[in-house]
Amino acid sequence: VEEAVAEDMARFEESFSGIDQRYRLINRIGEGTFSTVYKAEDLEYNDYDNRWDIDERESRKWSPAHRRRPSRRPHYVAIKKIYVTSSPIRIFNELELLFDLRYSDSVCPLITAFRHMDQVIAVLPYFQHQDFRDYYRDMKISEMRLYFRSLFTALRSVHAKKILHRDIKPTNFLYNPQQARGVLVDFGLAEREGTEWHPCACTLTPEERRHRITHSVYAQTQSSGAQASSYPKNDTRSSRRANRAGTRGFRAPEVLIKCTQQNTSIDMWSAGVILLTLLTRRFPFFHSQDDIDALLEITTLFGRKRMKETSLLHGQIFETNIPSYSDGGHSLERIILWCTGRTGDKNGPKKELEPEEKEAVQFLYRLLECDPAKRITADEALRHPFIEKAHE
Ligand code: ADP
Ligand code: MG
Repeated sequence: VEEAVAEDMARFEESFSGIDQRYRLINRIGEGTFSTVYKAEDLEYNDYDNRWDIDERESRKWSPAHRRRPSRRPHYVAIKKIYVTSSPIRIFNELELLFDLRYSDSVCPLITAFRHMDQVIAVLPYFQHQDFRDYYRDMKISEMRLYFRSLFTALRSVHAKKILHRDIKPTNFLYNPQQARGVLVDFGLAEREGTEWHPCACTLTPEERRHRITHSVYAQTQSSGAQASSYPKNDTRSSRRANRAGTRGFRAPEVLIKCTQQNTSIDMWSAGVILLTLLTRRFPFFHSQDDIDALLEITTLFGRKRMKETSLLHGQIFETNIPSYSDGGHSLERIILWCTGRTGDKNGPKKELEPEEKEAVQFLYRLLECDPAKRITADEALRHPFIEKAHE
């Protein structure tokens, strides 16, 4: 263990009185915006506590000697130290949702949580996994099927409880390629569906939507002959506020456009970005610095026409004077060929994706669907041919 990490662990043990009685810190395994995560051994764990382990119970019944001697096999946990700067509501929200999801398939369950003064820690079973950066460059299509079967199993159980994860990305899905199993972690930004504020235009009828647009300040400045290329001055509209949580590059268009009626389908878009990453072997795939940038990156892919349609769904108008965006965008097939250096030269034969990759692209289109209402759900995804064909 590095010296700085050892110091950090010592400081944590000192500040959280009693923790060293219960856990032996081994290493620091994660450091994010909202928390630090440590790997630790649970010193109080013994097999008597493990009421779910039927085999152990059986063996206890038959061997009285064994009863007195707890198993020596160490049990590892992940201790998530949530930064004290997080609001109590946010901390409570994360723990409450984890508790609610404790029996959910492929979701990392919460074992317990402690508070000492202003510090809260969550204790989770340690899940052995591999770093995404170690395998994204050479994952086979057959392995992608398994990866996504596991991810959508997790999302199906989360979404069944009407919970949006909001931060689906590789570091929040701990995957073990050997077992072809993963667990979803990090519910720090998750929320229940319907915690939004104002109604969004995507829930309006086409007439209502048209009414909203013709009465917007934009439309008024247009008809009064104001310069179309400038932002409206003295804009009296209330600025759009919506939950924009999540990680740049994984945000669905409706999140970027600040639709206020976001639902579980935002997680499916993010999963699509992971599949795009795997197929193109580019990580991260999107590099945007802010939401507008991110929207423009999506425009490069899907074209101006699709972005205009998508914006209209949410009662927004999308305009750009950047000439390099085409109306129709590019097919995902071409993007993947480009990114993997298979575009060939002008005179050479036209290169194509492998049949299995084409299948993956068909599926990818269902995930990276700009209209959230048409996007595939986790339940449907598990029944999609691309995932159904997964076998170990
Ligand atoms: P943050 O909110 O800071 O992103 P996470 O819950 O995503 O916190 O955890 C950060 C990192 O810690 C993860 O990306 C992962 O590497 C590691 N981690 C979290 N939970 C576990 C676990 N149960 N088992 C193993 N590693 C974990
Ligand atoms: Mg995280």
